[in-house]
Amino acid sequence: MKRETQCLHAGYTPKNGEPRVMPIVQSTTYCFDSTEHIAQLFDMPTEYMYSRFANPTVDAVEKKIAALEGGVGAMATSSGQAASLLSILNLCNAGDSFIAASTIYGGSVNLFAVTLKKLGIECIFVDAEASEEELQKAFKENTKAVFGETLANPALTVFDIEKFANLAHKNGVPLIVDNTFATPMLCRPIEWGADIVVHSTSKYMDGHALQVGGIIVDGGTFDWTNGKFPEFVEPDESYHGVSYTRDFGKMAYIIKARMQLMRDFGCYPAAHSAFLLNLGLETLPVRMKQYCENALTVAEYLEKSPFVKSVNYPGLSDNPFHERAKKYLPDGTSGVISFSIKGGREAAVKFMDNLTLASNVVHVADIRTCVLHPASATHRQLTDEQLVAAGIDAGMIRLSVGLENVEDILADLDRGFAALEK
Ligand SMILES: *Cc1c(COP(=O)(O)O)cnc(C)c1O
Repeated sequence: MKRETQCLHAGYTPKNGEPRVMPIVQSTTYCFDSTEHIAQLFDMPTEYMYSRFANPTVDAVEKKIAALEGGVGAMATSSGQAASLLSILNLCNAGDSFIAASTIYGGSVNLFAVTLKKLGIECIFVDAEASEEELQKAFKENTKAVFGETLANPALTVFDIEKFANLAHKNGVPLIVDNTFATPMLCRPIEWGADIVVHSTSKYMDGHALQVGGIIVDGGTFDWTNGKFPEFVEPDESYHGVSYTRDFGKMAYIIKARMQLMRDFGCYPAAHSAFLLNLGLETLPVRMKQYCENALTVAEYLEKSPFVKSVNYPGLSDNPFHERAKKYLPDGTSGVISFSIKGGREAAVKFMDNLTLASNVVHVADIRTCVLHPASATHRQLTDEQLVAAGIDAGMIRLSVGLENVEDILADLDRGFAALEK
């Protein structure tokens, strides 16, 4: 099946007389005929047992997203943050380290630099544009993974997946890629060498600003028996001596994540959330196409505006990441643009307060156009000087272009610019 078809049909195939749409299985638990049957499930959980770690509605969505990314399996989580957290905890224990590109999502930076540090896991941040020789110096004996973001939120840099996959594999560790902004419609990191893909499904996949969620996809590509990951190979005494590589082969990573981490942390989505996520996925191909088209039109319009100092959108031909975007994101670079207004903070605030169509929200990748002023919201604690050091102009606006008619979006921007003339 092609991806458009997978979005509609992968993950659930009704049998004779069954509902056309995957039903919401609203049940914490599942009935069995015998004590012996349940006992066997505690040795090897091959059926639904308890909805803290597996549920038929969630499972259907997991299978759909795994198919879309070209992975062997997936595990949904209650948020994108939970997906990033578990993707690392499945590989790193206290005393281990991993490497992450410094341009990743701010929430991931805080999780990796502050909270994982408290758990004894060190994140080494690197400049993703550094040479391979320079990047090699970040690897240590205890390094267990490399992490980057296809299209970074909000920096909008394009991650060189192949370069980092080669580097990670040379050092015997997997590459994890956060593919939230691209979605599998625009980029499939596993095809470029990534081993694990994570998503915040709260963004384009859900698309309608309905529910927070995340997912981890296992590419099934990494060799966990290379000596660096004994917990994948040796018997797991908390699961009656299961060996993940021996018993689950290519699905070792994702089954280990479910059996150890989801069992213990319990950050599993509700069936109803998965049902809503599935609705979003069904229309993902048509939406992504339109987001790309609208955003490119808006970016080109902004570039010509006398009120605008600079526009950052990799789809623009003069963007420093344009060539790389053509390689990894040939069908478009998604719907998020950042741009800086002349006149700094004051002008940016005035512009935003005069928009009537775009909503002022802490969210991106919604079906409705929305804006955020990082200097007064997500990066509020920084002074103007610190903002410059962080690469954020006080006049910078993050614009998430929605699916309204693009003429209405441009007219709204004009309303904002007109206010600056007064
Ligand atoms: C929003 C986001 C996250 C965190 O996801 P939540 O669903 O909000 O927990 C992680 N990565 C990226 C790239 C994001 O945009």
